[in-house]
Amino acid sequence: MRAGPSQEDIRRHNLGALLRHVHLGGPISRAELTAKMGLNRSTIMALTSDLTAAGLVREELPRETGRAGRPSLVVRPESARVYVFAFDVGPDRLAVARVGLGGVILDRRETVRDRDRFDLDEVAGLLAGFARQMRRKTRADTVCVGAAAAVSGGVRKGDGVVRFGPNLKAEEVPFGEELGRRLGLGLPVSVGNDANLAALAEHSRGVGAAVRDLIYLHGDVGIGGGIIAGGHLLGGHEGYGGEVGHMVVNPGGRACGCGSHGCLEAEVGERALLESAGRVSSGRHGRDAVRTVVDAADRGDIVAQEGLSRVGDWLGLGVANLVNIFNPEMVIFGGILREIYLGSAAQVRSQLTLHAMAPQRERLRLRTSALGDSATLVGAAELAFAHVLADPLEVLARANA
Ligand SMILES: [Zn+2]
Repeated sequence: MRAGPSQEDIRRHNLGALLRHVHLGGPISRAELTAKMGLNRSTIMALTSDLTAAGLVREELPRETGRAGRPSLVVRPESARVYVFAFDVGPDRLAVARVGLGGVILDRRETVRDRDRFDLDEVAGLLAGFARQMRRKTRADTVCVGAAAAVSGGVRKGDGVVRFGPNLKAEEVPFGEELGRRLGLGLPVSVGNDANLAALAEHSRGVGAAVRDLIYLHGDVGIGGGIIAGGHLLGGHEGYGGEVGHMVVNPGGRACGCGSHGCLEAEVGERALLESAGRVSSGRHGRDAVRTVVDAADRGDIVAQEGLSRVGDWLGLGVANLVNIFNPEMVIFGGILREIYLGSAAQVRSQLTLHAMAPQRERLRLRTSALGDSATLVGAAELAFAHVLADPLEVLARANA
């Protein structure tokens, strides 16, 4: 006979669940927590006292309730006190944020990077330097409980090694380990794919909150994706799942950075758009160059319109394939795909009508990212907080030791 969960297991689970409500939903009354968690009032009181003593939440009297009787105390996350570091390594930028419990961005630094080379020493050194600057500005009673990075590339589950990142020019890079060493906080750095983490961010706090089945498509130099199925991120056997950018939509098409031809990324990514719109000779690239094409198309520039419309057709075809396979409730366009989608929504919709099956597309919602340029950082912060929510007291005891 197997023993059931111990009292301690149950308490740990309940503490994590309560903290998750406060972290994701914001300030909430004890009465609402009692209703949402299906626990009795005295249990909720004991759990909030534990979390308060640990410095993770605080309880306050609500402002005017307008109701007679004793008001229920409101539980708030200690956002200014408990925080994580979130890092973002993209083709063109490096960003760091200090994010408080509850998902509040408390401080942030950003710099451009050269997309043609990846120097681990330089990247990890810059990121750790930014983190140190931010840390010097914090109050003495603040505590860092985690760190995580979003990287534009394929990351091995478990050890934070960037296996492939053609758009970063990174390959087999022990990124998590090196950044952890440089930070010197005695904390491991979790690492995830940027589009996967942005999907998680939109699902937790963005346009896809409360949506259990969604696909997030992230455009930068390339196209990344994150698939949330039944409320969980689809990682695949080794963590490389969701590489929708390398779904082949045009077998005889453009060469892709991965070595194949006609991948969604090759037909829809930044380079494809700039080439189709006759903008390569300008020498400009990145999000601003993409915005320039979309703006020009909007103002009636025929070449820009044709380029955008061609790219929109491929994008729509890719989305139709994904919709047929995964039957998402929502598809979210982020990064430069936000602009590309807004400029070519008619093409995307018409490809969906042509190629997606009616039952899958009838109630599909197409949306743009709510978190914008912060989606990857917010997602990295959620990854960093994940172990705090799994065992709040243990993490805090360790951080304070
Ligand atoms: Zn490819």
